[in-house]
Amino acid sequence: MGNCCCCRSSADPKTKYGNIHGYPVYKTEINTDVIRAPTTHAPASKLPKPIHPVIQTPVTPTRPKIVVGVYKYEARDSQDLSFDKGDRMEVLDESDQDWLFVEHLITGHKGFIPGNFVAPELSVESEDWFFENISRKEAEKLLLGDESQPRGTFLIRPSEHNPNGYSLSVKDWEVHRGYHVKHYKIKPLDNGGFYISTNKTYESLPELVLAYSKNALGLCHVLSKPCRKPEPTMWDLAPTYRDKWEISRDEIQLLRRLGRGNFGEVFFGKWKNQYEVAVKTLREGTMSTQAFLQEAAIMKKFRHKRLVALYGICSEQEPVYIVQEYMSKGSLLDFLRKDEGKLLEFEDLIYIAFQVASGMEYLESKQLIHRDLAARNVLIGENNIAKICDFGLARVIEDNEYCPKQGSRFPVKWTAPEAIVYGKFSIKSDVWSYGILLMELFTYGQVPYPGMHGREVIELVEQGYRMPKPTSHNLPDEIYQIMLKCWDTIAEARPTFEFLTHYFERFNVTSEVPYREVPD
Ligand code: AMP
Repeated sequence: MGNCCCCRSSADPKTKYGNIHGYPVYKTEINTDVIRAPTTHAPASKLPKPIHPVIQTPVTPTRPKIVVGVYKYEARDSQDLSFDKGDRMEVLDESDQDWLFVEHLITGHKGFIPGNFVAPELSVESEDWFFENISRKEAEKLLLGDESQPRGTFLIRPSEHNPNGYSLSVKDWEVHRGYHVKHYKIKPLDNGGFYISTNKTYESLPELVLAYSKNALGLCHVLSKPCRKPEPTMWDLAPTYRDKWEISRDEIQLLRRLGRGNFGEVFFGKWKNQYEVAVKTLREGTMSTQAFLQEAAIMKKFRHKRLVALYGICSEQEPVYIVQEYMSKGSLLDFLRKDEGKLLEFEDLIYIAFQVASGMEYLESKQLIHRDLAARNVLIGENNIAKICDFGLARVIEDNEYCPKQGSRFPVKWTAPEAIVYGKFSIKSDVWSYGILLMELFTYGQVPYPGMHGREVIELVEQGYRMPKPTSHNLPDEIYQIMLKCWDTIAEARPTFEFLTHYFERFNVTSEVPYREVPD
């Protein structure tokens, strides 16, 4: 393992300087030698062009980029490489950040690896305790979700407010509060170091972690062990599918029917008999395959941890298959109505509201409109992870029943008035739908506008009617006010998903009364 080109640091004229984007940055001694005109008598044509004395730009060979496995990965096809946690690999081509082309430094094998399973060597991202893309709420969920993790379990994440700072989240326990999470600011020093308390400063985050692992030094508890890291989402089934979305039908095995959706039946299945997938089968004539292929190409590029990953499609025969990431708990709507969902606490509902807003914030930033945001189009996985599905799909559906031209299946109760009346779909009509989704969520899956027909809803909403605050649950007024803002007649006056994400992220659950059904 030690005999690789990355271990040349002693011979290297450069000295480690710091980190940029996680990669070590090296300070290079600038060579200020003056280049002199040659004095040889070589033929003029062979002589280098006369040059004026200049300061030479240092020409240093580019330092090989080494990454280490943060998770174990098993190769899935002939183009990729297996590796273990901690294995070192040299990056040979990083033009596609999702699939790096590397050479394994132990086996010498070359191949593609998923970029989100590795981190640059010696970078903070390669540390077990460093969680790159999580918010405060997600940190709490990860620390508290696994009961086997002891007091003092911790993680460090980039601060959401201070671009150079970090936050330390620690699992704690107190008699009157039980298990909970405490968050500490890690502030940067001008010279590159860090501190939590001004009287103790550290040159690096690992040094800080080491110190607080030996002694609590004023923290609620000594740091005991890094929080368990959930495996990242695979965006493609394998590198073969990184820029191709047609999957061979015989590689897909349909194993169990999950349900019936707007477009056809949905199955739990496996790809190559091994990897779990969800397969949507499209009823014949549901959409033009050509239109869907175009849409799939776009959808495949939208990647966010709150959006269900689209792996590809089988479109060469009917019925067309849409192959997606499998979400073990099914649709949010079904989940809320079943036993497990009914047991969700108020803070779990807030967490789901936050995750959906966060996925929609991503679509908002990419100017993609969902057009059919509803609890039935949000899927739930382990630990109440929520992901939005079917984004962009409503646009290509040719089914008259579904098409936004008033059919029995047109989602009237979820659709903003300007979209129903003028067909004006926008991210702001999605915000309206999000308000309806909030109502579904906080009433554990009640049908919106209970007892009313679509036509009646359209008329009343046009006249300014809005769903009242449900009397059946302890819905805090503050959240009901957010729903009303989402249902503002003036689309532009509705909040942004960015606002909604921050709102639910920061929502202080502890100040709320227990969220239970109000007894009659
Ligand atoms: P849909 O066509 O999206 O309405 O899906 C119909 C049903 O299939 C949903 O209610 C879910 O229970 C299930 N389903 C759809 N997509 C998935 C998925 N990716 N993972 C797990 N279950 C799914």
